[in-house]
Amino acid sequence: MTGKRIVILGGGFAGATLAANLQKSIPAGCTVTIVSKENHITYSPLLAEVVGASILPGHVVAPLRQIAGRATLCMVRVSDIDLQARKIHYLGEGPGTIEYDELVLACGVGANLALVPGMARYALPLKTVGDALFLRNRILSRLEQATLQPNVRLRRWLTTFAVLGGGFSGVEVAGEISDFLRSSLRYYPTLDPEDCKVCLVHSGDRLLPELPEGLGDFALRKMTRSGLDIRLNARAERIDARSIELNSGQRIAAGTVICTIGTAPNPLIESLPVDKIRGRVATNPDMSVPGVPGLWALGDCAHIENDWSGLPAPPTAQFATREAKQLAHNLCAAIRGEETQPFRFRPLGALATIGHNKAVAEVFGIRLSGFVAWLLWRGVYLLRVPTLARKLRLFLEWNWGMLFPADIAHLGFSRTRRRS
Ligand SMILES: Cc1cc2nc3c(=O)[nH]c(=O)nc-3n(C[C@H](O)[C@H](O)[C@H](O)COP(=O)(O)OP(=O)(O)OC[C@H]3O[C@@H](n4cnc5c(N)ncnc54)[C@H](O)[C@@H]3O)c2cc1C
Repeated sequence: MTGKRIVILGGGFAGATLAANLQKSIPAGCTVTIVSKENHITYSPLLAEVVGASILPGHVVAPLRQIAGRATLCMVRVSDIDLQARKIHYLGEGPGTIEYDELVLACGVGANLALVPGMARYALPLKTVGDALFLRNRILSRLEQATLQPNVRLRRWLTTFAVLGGGFSGVEVAGEISDFLRSSLRYYPTLDPEDCKVCLVHSGDRLLPELPEGLGDFALRKMTRSGLDIRLNARAERIDARSIELNSGQRIAAGTVICTIGTAPNPLIESLPVDKIRGRVATNPDMSVPGVPGLWALGDCAHIENDWSGLPAPPTAQFATREAKQLAHNLCAAIRGEETQPFRFRPLGALATIGHNKAVAEVFGIRLSGFVAWLLWRGVYLLRVPTLARKLRLFLEWNWGMLFPADIAHLGFSRTRRRS
């Protein structure tokens, strides 16, 4: 059957890849609409590099109209989904509705800032480009404030940056901040490098638990040698305006706390009357949602069993893009009345940078660490970042960064005051 209206809710890794694949294979007469808060995909694996001023914010986003030019894009916030009437309600310039025949949920997850008392108020999340830019600015304003602070204790507080979480995002952002401080301190000659600290707080007994133990140990050794203060088996119990209190009773006085832990279900998913597992939509093996014809889910907001391993697919970009390719195939098959296939993917591996031009990686079962792993990390992300224009800009920017010091301009968001 043709003429179906396919609506994809979310323009992240899952939604954008799905739209790009559908436009190659969609049956004649069908339409694809992406409904998303932003008109771009955010390449989150590179957000830490924006924090550390290694790359510009524009290099980690790519317009959806370039990725899936034949899809219709609606840049609006969806407020409600009516599964009975097959309509979604949105808030844009004004309220509106979009009708669908097939709806794909690809709206990701949010940050859970209620995990630790004080986190919502005093810690800074890293999820969006805005978060990354804000953090970059925060580091710079703390350095500027520290140059004016005569009190040594307060100066140290201003130039101490604590990162919560020793997974990929935490390790990468801690490494980036440490590199950024080292390369920018030449412009702040009155600051003592010994007073500028990055502290990484991790509740587990080793860093990067997703990678083999040896790589986590390598990361710990190298990062400690680079001067990072790494606290393992340490859980934040409370965060206030001045410090983080750990489960051991110790306190870390830090002027900036960054949290990379905790996710919360998207409110849209929470309100949907469908089965969920830990806040994610429980799907059939082919990513359709049981008991709701015409509804599909993928990416971080979905709980999908990987037919290859029998385990739930982890919430990563690597899986979201593979699910999207499989779902494009399944949607077309379902519309044509053909059989759909279960999601099946053998993970390729994982990589993480640890600062100082070093990384750790496990790719196709091969473990790498140090500079070679770092080169591989850059190569992989250069290939994966969407659009040729961005690949080129990223390549130039990375090479530029090897020759010249980090850009320490504080990018203010203030606007000229208008008088009526
Ligand atoms: C800092 C960081 C680093 C990461 N590093 C890696 C890494 O190195 N490797 C890796 O594989 N994964 C990494 N991840 C995880 C990866 O980014 C996610 O798994 C991936 O983004 C999931 O894709 P998604 O499309 O499901 O969700 P998202 O990419 O989050 O996209 C969700 C989309 O839904 C839209 N949306 C949400 N609610 C609404 C609404 N109400 N109305 C309209 N639109 C809405 C959003 O605007 C967005 O476009 C990282 C994540 C972070 C935060």
